[in-house]
Amino acid sequence: MADADGAIEAAVLPAVNRIAGALVEPLEALAAELVEKGSRLRVVAEVPVPVRLVLAAPRGVDPEEIREVHSQLQILRQCRKLVTRLGAVAVESADTAVAAARVAELGGPRAAVSSEEAALAAGLVLLEEDVSDVRPNVSRFWLLERTEGPGRTPTAARTGADEAGLDGGFPLPPPPEPRVVLFRSARQLSTLSDAGAEVVTLPGVADVPVRGFAIVPEKACGAVAAKGTREGEPPLVWLGPPPEFVRPPRIPGLPRATEVKPPVAVAIGPFAAGAGRRAVIAGPCAVESPEQVLRIAKAVARAGATALRGGVFKPRTSPYAFQGHGLEGLRWLRAAGDSVGLPIVTEVMAPAQVEPLARLADVLQIGARNSQNFDLLREAGGAGRPVLLKRGFGTTVEEWLASAEYVLAAGCRDLILCERGIRTFERTTRGTLDLGGMLAARSLTSLPLIVDPSHAAGRRDLVVPLARAAWGAGADGLIVEVHDTPEAALCDGAQALLPADLEALCDEIGVLPGEDGSVERVRTAIDAVDREISALVSRRLELCRRVAGAKRRLGRPIRDEAREATVKARFAEALGGSVPETGAERLADALIGLGLHAEGWPGAGAPEGPDA
Ligand code: PEP
Ligand code: MN
Repeated sequence: MADADGAIEAAVLPAVNRIAGALVEPLEALAAELVEKGSRLRVVAEVPVPVRLVLAAPRGVDPEEIREVHSQLQILRQCRKLVTRLGAVAVESADTAVAAARVAELGGPRAAVSSEEAALAAGLVLLEEDVSDVRPNVSRFWLLERTEGPGRTPTAARTGADEAGLDGGFPLPPPPEPRVVLFRSARQLSTLSDAGAEVVTLPGVADVPVRGFAIVPEKACGAVAAKGTREGEPPLVWLGPPPEFVRPPRIPGLPRATEVKPPVAVAIGPFAAGAGRRAVIAGPCAVESPEQVLRIAKAVARAGATALRGGVFKPRTSPYAFQGHGLEGLRWLRAAGDSVGLPIVTEVMAPAQVEPLARLADVLQIGARNSQNFDLLREAGGAGRPVLLKRGFGTTVEEWLASAEYVLAAGCRDLILCERGIRTFERTTRGTLDLGGMLAARSLTSLPLIVDPSHAAGRRDLVVPLARAAWGAGADGLIVEVHDTPEAALCDGAQALLPADLEALCDEIGVLPGEDGSVERVRTAIDAVDREISALVSRRLELCRRVAGAKRRLGRPIRDEAREATVKARFAEALGGSVPETGAERLADALIGLGLHAEGWPGAGAPEGPDA
């Protein structure tokens, strides 16, 4: 439907077919409408319509005799098996109704593939139904509507009153709608595909070699919108209002711990966690002697830890167990930290300990047992030192954040939160590591969140797997207990990692070894990276083989230069600063070359890449 100027007012547009992919002609028309006429359109709904195709021929034609099958190009691509089975040649026509009429006019031994209606209208008889290679074959139509301005159209601004038939109404979220965007650069395509959008590419034109539409999942809209448009690049055109990035609701009454702002990092010397920085804190549960803590400090620094932990006031279940070496132990910890260049983290158990500890320690840890000791939280928060606040094993996420608020309210500028396992009915592990709670906290606070797998597990064999899980869940860091003679440890020996275990963990999660690491230590880390790269390259080649299979099935060309440009742009963006100018391109070329070889592209696979 068009208005007086011929601009689209409302339309139903076939956009994507399950087999043929992008339906180029209608999408070209839509792109031209958006770019040339600047129309504001939005996709109100996406409607799947099953495509039922029949094989039809003039009366009296024996199916065995058919030598030509007429249809529209995209449809012929969807019916390869049929054409092969009949031993016929495919003949292209402008659309399926034209094909049916042409076959009726020319007579046998010919047949057409079209809708049942078109075949019957042309006077043909049906020989076979549902002849498409993939069933059900579905085309997705977009229902388009012109919007008034940047806001939502009145139809989208529904309220509960409409739904419930009530007068007063209550706000409902807007109806889910496909978020469609027109992109016109390789970088935008790369951002969209990284965000999990379904991409429908259009053939490139001279001044815009990479372009198409993308259907963006609702949850990825914010990220795509935030990456926006770079200078010199045509802007992304949203079909519908551009999405705003909406943070989840805050907990009322906790203004700062849950303040809506970008993630913050806490940095102390070489240590930094939060806002994309990730690090490991490691060391013994308890400082036992000057020699013990120095040996372990060297080992954890060499592994890759950037902060040293060690308890000097130990909260023990039994009053007869080792209670820590107190302020003397703190001096040993300080000396060990200084000798390896790492900041030190130690637990404070009572308000009276805050002042003497804050003089020597870089970070004050509040332990799980004290996480709701509000006097201690206030005292530690006002000490002028960064604070590491563990979650109590009986506290909810909301209570944990309320404790954080005490620390912040007392003036602390650098607060790190730590999930360390909660108490559940489970007895096979010391605690139950609540990664769900850690992730829930992530959506509520901008503070760095780290994980303590040692106290959650209580047993060495589970520390590395839990650390891996926490890292995979996006923790900003880990705090891990390490001992070189755990059988003789005065506290928590059963859960201590050996230094070698910590090295392997750091290599696995990609934490760099310490600056003073030996050649052998750093080479071990490089070996781990090489193993990972080799596995990724193998996986990429396997995916190339699969995509080649899919392209062949759909009759799409093996080589796609727009796609290659996207791959190169992705490498250039990711490696830009860290390799010489042509390095990223050479690496992308080599991978593309290997990929083309795996896809069976003739002559490809030389290490120089596709141009070789
Ligand atoms: C510790 O880190 O040594 C400790 C006692 O931890 P938590 O308070 O988590 O039990
Ligand atoms: Mn411990």
